[in-house]
Amino acid sequence: MSDQPTPMMAQYLAIREANPGALLFYRMGDFYEMFFDDAVAAAAALDIALTKRGTHEGQPIPMCGVPFHAAESYLLTLIRKGFRVAIAEQMEDPAEAKKRGSKSVVARDVVRLVTPGTLTEEALLEARRHNFLAAFAQVRDQAALAWVDISTGAFQVMDCPMSRLAPELARLAPRELLAVDGSGLDDLAGDAGAALTGLPPGAFDSASGTRRLCALFKVETLDGFGAFSRAELSAMGAIVDYLELTQKGNLPLLRPPVRERASGAMQIDAATRRNLELTQALSGGREGSLLTAIDRTVTAAGARLLERRISAPSRDLALIHARQEAVAQLVEDARLSADLRAALALAPDMDRALSRLALDRGGPRDLAAIRAGLSQGAEIATRFPADAAQVLRQAVRDLTGHDALIQLLDDALVAEPPLLTRDGGFVAPDYDEDLDETRRLRDEGRGVIARMQSDYAALAGVQSLKIKHNNVLGYFIETTTTHAEKMMAPPLSETFIHRQTTANQIRFTTVELSELETRILNARDRALQIERAVFERLREAVLERAPQIGQAARALAEIDLAAGFADIASGESWTRPRVDDSRAFVIEGGRHPVVERALKRKAEAFVANDCDLTSGDTPAIWLLTGPNMAGKSTFLRQNALIAVLAQAGAFVPARRAHIGMVSQLFSRVGAADDLARGRSTFMVEMVETAAILNQADDHALVILDEIGRGTATWDGLSIAWAVMEHLHAANRCRALFATHYHEMTALTAKLDGVENATVTVREWEGEVIFLHEVRKGAADRSYGVQVARLAGLPASVVERAREVLDALESGEREGATRPAALIDDLPLFRAIPPAPAAATPKDNPVDLRMKDIHPDTLSPREALDLIYELKSLT
Ligand code: ADP
Repeated sequence: MSDQPTPMMAQYLAIREANPGALLFYRMGDFYEMFFDDAVAAAAALDIALTKRGTHEGQPIPMCGVPFHAAESYLLTLIRKGFRVAIAEQMEDPAEAKKRGSKSVVARDVVRLVTPGTLTEEALLEARRHNFLAAFAQVRDQAALAWVDISTGAFQVMDCPMSRLAPELARLAPRELLAVDGSGLDDLAGDAGAALTGLPPGAFDSASGTRRLCALFKVETLDGFGAFSRAELSAMGAIVDYLELTQKGNLPLLRPPVRERASGAMQIDAATRRNLELTQALSGGREGSLLTAIDRTVTAAGARLLERRISAPSRDLALIHARQEAVAQLVEDARLSADLRAALALAPDMDRALSRLALDRGGPRDLAAIRAGLSQGAEIATRFPADAAQVLRQAVRDLTGHDALIQLLDDALVAEPPLLTRDGGFVAPDYDEDLDETRRLRDEGRGVIARMQSDYAALAGVQSLKIKHNNVLGYFIETTTTHAEKMMAPPLSETFIHRQTTANQIRFTTVELSELETRILNARDRALQIERAVFERLREAVLERAPQIGQAARALAEIDLAAGFADIASGESWTRPRVDDSRAFVIEGGRHPVVERALKRKAEAFVANDCDLTSGDTPAIWLLTGPNMAGKSTFLRQNALIAVLAQAGAFVPARRAHIGMVSQLFSRVGAADDLARGRSTFMVEMVETAAILNQADDHALVILDEIGRGTATWDGLSIAWAVMEHLHAANRCRALFATHYHEMTALTAKLDGVENATVTVREWEGEVIFLHEVRKGAADRSYGVQVARLAGLPASVVERAREVLDALESGEREGATRPAALIDDLPLFRAIPPAPAAATPKDNPVDLRMKDIHPDTLSPREALDLIYELKSLT
């Protein structure tokens, strides 16, 4: 008999089977319960108690549960730990099920599949970051990448050959990547920090993808959105299919897909992003990244926009100039900028509120957020002068014209509505007559109850008699056991009907009280019903204007970003760079925003440096030499970052800057440890260098730091040498090349456009002092030995290193090229300083003689003789 699952367990198993690959949250009253393996896994992941409930096939069933009201924080933990969660809700009132018979189970179904890429809840999302869901599709020789942020509705797609997938994933950093089952993209997804979800080939069918997209956007054809390739349709279709699957038909509010041109943005590959620490520091966190150092936005949407701009600086000159103009205007009008930022800080995140409303996951507070955002926006729009920059004027247009909706929401909603619709109380008085009337009834009922209580107290002669309410009994009259006796005897017992006896109390009701209760309950239910209907109407009104609200949200983000850029430009003395389509690259007094910030904390000054890589007919390459710790890497990176900032539309940390549009940005560092990925560091370095040499065009900017360091000296030098020649002859791009191979400085004589530069140091009383100044010319020496000494290497080792260095350098001067030969010439065993001659006891006669002496046995005379003897031995 125990083998027969209970009806509830049968239902559970059926739902479980229909939703493979996900933990099942099975709603039971106020809890989400998990059973079997799900329970075991979830209990361990969430660190909650694992219990048992009933048996299945003779075995106890493991079970654990989380309270429904706290489910979000548990969900967050599970998603972070890589789980997917299917949420099965009760689809009817348990009372309904009871009506069908005592054995009947409450109908349940999965309403949603929670996955990393499909989150919308405030608590599960990072406000200042995008949460992208991406899909990669291949159709014959085409491939495409589509991505969507369902919490804001942004939907994009681009042509993306396999070779570009890694850099694009690095730029977007999606939380989840969809690909066809068995795609083998596990490593790629892993590197980008995305969870890989395999879907059956059917989900990627381009024809059904087109149908799904047409249905979603309610159009006959997608032509109005652009001409998409089959691969693009397939990728977009897969996203819509997956959203249907996970959202169970409740589709988010997606904006029509926008085609992104690969040529629209500066191309930056994954390794470059990592090296330059654009949005993430090498240590993994955000602290120490360019993004964190320059983020002065005051809204979450502004911060998300900043991340997008920094991740994909533009290559559209007109756009860059328009954005710069807005920043310039706000730099000039500091007062306006400060006022704007203060006003923006009060604007809520409309994007995310809107998406929750679209998914029917929203509440009254989301409506209030739209109201506050739009009215704050309208107010902000009035602050700009008529001759505002084009970007700002566009923002003003997007922020105006929402008055009707603001008015509607203002009339309908109370000032501070509750989070959930469930308990009502969010519709303002005087909005709906019906509601006001019902509420009056309900509230009057409460007044009547108070009167009734005093009437009954008088009637029964019991002053302490109270009318109370609980969820089981509803309204009841309560009194202590002592007083109750007379109420249970005639004549009072004709009025008071006994309901319940507890330890100290007796509870009654009356016909009159039950009738009143019914009236109150009805009024309450009716009020709730009206409020829900009002909510629905308001939700629809908002969704009707979703595109315009989205525009307004973007306008606020755009203003926030421009004001943030203006703020840092004024505060840190940044300058407006001249950007054109030449191949100029002139930076005067350039600084590294992150290093400067770190130095400032230690009250140290950053030394500004110039850089000129302007290339006319010849490529321009600087070969930078100088000791370790002098500031080579910092200089290299600051120039790359200045280019990124300039094309992101920002001002730049320099006295003056002129940048010819950079098409591609490459940055490599020799032999960075990559043990985590289990590849030889040198191999990684060479693969990455190959990518540059194969791809960089003549508008690229290439930064190479110590390439070749990962192998033996002569190998390394030869490779660095050949790479340099290739950059010069084939890529013909602007490049900065830092190396500790001084031999390479000879290249300037041979290659047009290659110049030597060095970071200066001064030697003072055998110590090096880093000046951090970059000037033309080659470093005379590398000062490695001095730096080693600063690092605390034992004095004997430093001394020995000096000797080896001297020998190597004099050997070089005399034309000896084989280090082995040089080493042969060195007195090898002098590495350990020779011991002082008389230091060891073995051959020291005084010590030897002393060993034989036992002072206790000596007479004073013998002792004196001994002193004379020892004296003669020294
Ligand atoms: P290298 O690449 O030559 O070994 P780094 O660029 O890593 O040297 O710089 C080493 C340290 O020197 C940095 O961490 C920073 O503290 C300091 N530094 C570098 N450049 C400057 C500068 N221009 N002004 C002031 N300090 C600097």
